[in-house]
Amino acid sequence: MSETIRELTCIVCPIGCTLKVTMDDGKFVSVTGNTCPRGAKYAETEMTAPRRVLTSTVKVSGGHLPLCPVRTKGDIPKELLFEAMRAVNAVSIPAPVSIGQVVIEDLCGTGVPLIATRDIHSV
Ligand code: SF4
Repeated sequence: MSETIRELTCIVCPIGCTLKVTMDDGKFVSVTGNTCPRGAKYAETEMTAPRRVLTSTVKVSGGHLPLCPVRTKGDIPKELLFEAMRAVNAVSIPAPVSIGQVVIEDLCGTGVPLIATRDIHSV
């Protein structure tokens, strides 16, 4: 048994509660400092299987801008971020692009789509 306590800032909402997470041999034990249950869930996920929303840009052909900002529609495993960025960098889409348009249906097998976050007009 090797219990450790790690301090985290909850990023689920702007309040940013300071969480103290107790782990034992890499297993989640408990959390304190959270003001709501979402903080407890965040702490457990962050310590055992962290996830992130990916934001980036993709190339656009024939548009009024050469790049379109994109983000994942939900969070994806943090360990897949580099692989996901490679997939995003390889994509080029034609204008016009609409905000919310799906750019990649299932990013790296996560089941999470990549979507456009602004309109790009054709030129
Ligand atoms: S614990 Fe709850 S109230 Fe505190 S930052 Fe996280 S989501 Fe916000």
